[in-house]
Amino acid sequence: MIIGAAKEVLDGERRVALTPDSARQLQKLGYECAIESGAGEAANFSDKDYTEADVKVVADAKTLWETSDIVIKVRPPETSELELTHEGQTVISFFWPAQNGELLQKFADKKVNVLAMDMVPRISRAQKMDALSSMANIAGYRAVIEAGNNFGRFFTGQITAAGKVPPAKVLVIGAGVAGLAAIGASTSLGAITLAFDVRPEVAEQVESMGAEFVYLDFEEEQQDGAATGGYASVSSPEFREAQLAKFRELAPEVDIVITTALIPGRDAPELWTEDMVQSMKPGSVIVDLAAEKGGNCKLTKMDEKIVTENGITVIGYTDFPSRMATQSSTLYATNIRHMMTDLTPEKDGQANINMEDDVIRGATATKDGEITFPPPKPKIA
Ligand code: NAD
Repeated sequence: MIIGAAKEVLDGERRVALTPDSARQLQKLGYECAIESGAGEAANFSDKDYTEADVKVVADAKTLWETSDIVIKVRPPETSELELTHEGQTVISFFWPAQNGELLQKFADKKVNVLAMDMVPRISRAQKMDALSSMANIAGYRAVIEAGNNFGRFFTGQITAAGKVPPAKVLVIGAGVAGLAAIGASTSLGAITLAFDVRPEVAEQVESMGAEFVYLDFEEEQQDGAATGGYASVSSPEFREAQLAKFRELAPEVDIVITTALIPGRDAPELWTEDMVQSMKPGSVIVDLAAEKGGNCKLTKMDEKIVTENGITVIGYTDFPSRMATQSSTLYATNIRHMMTDLTPEKDGQANINMEDDVIRGATATKDGEITFPPPKPKIA
């Protein structure tokens, strides 16, 4: 079979789903690889790099979709791409099937199989294919770099001939994948780093990274914040009040706030209110990674950077992984390659969408003309 990587059509998207290295691995599984000319350019992979890895470079999207059995890409396909698909083809990309029901139906109607990278279950065995985590990791790291780029001081404290420089104080709200990556980047740059999460079981991990976990005087309820499957549940009003009171106390002393708080399937909880922004020191920076879901900060504007009247920069970009396209393409292409490994147990270049396999079943959103989303809940042994 031929695996073809399409050039992303969304304006400004710099990532690509195939790298020369991942192509070499896919060839070992028995596949031929193709790529649309220029697809890797914005991620610093040239057509020549692909040719040298025995990837066939095709001139345009039409040819790529026509000649590929499996099309891999990053962003969900757009209607213009749906028109290029053919019966029996498989598309592997982020798809967000819950939000894209109409598009999903059209793929099913055309008998195109869809494997949604965002639906890979977050279980240990599937970690190597967990593209949401690889991208969140990059977003957390980049959030710190972006904050630093907009902050007028050092992260680390210094004593120099010109005077003593205090370290920056960074608060990370939400210590999931993105939050932990932000904590790691912040401590390694030398900032005093504080972190809060409703799941107190992450405190140890936070502290082992050299950061300080922020506890509330609300231990009993803090435990309640921990829900099943490693995800948070909705907090009680009393807990929320205690949390906001703590943040209000911290707001005047922190220089940088990075928010990553998320509960799956819900709008982002508002945790950094307008009065907190107003009580921060001029020059402070907020990076809101939850901007796409409405933001954790009241003042966040999606995909924008604003500066408030009191001199606080609020960044609501939603494309951090794309801003580090070489790194994110490398990790994403590796996630795809692992998915293909599981789809190709015989290493014979033939993909088998095995619905008995929990991970493949979880990711499969359409198969043979049927919508197979949402997947059944995994059986608990
Ligand atoms: P995750 O589920 O691993 O982490 C979210 C964390 O937030 C969890 O630890 C959860 O316990 C915590 N949380 C939930 N409610 C909270 C609350 N009220 N107070 C404090 N903590 C709370 O998710 P993730 O993969 O780390 O993603 C984090 C965010 O980053 C998401 O909103 C995701 O969409 C976003 N993201 C943004 C970009 C970008 O470019 N801007 C890229 C990738 C991911």
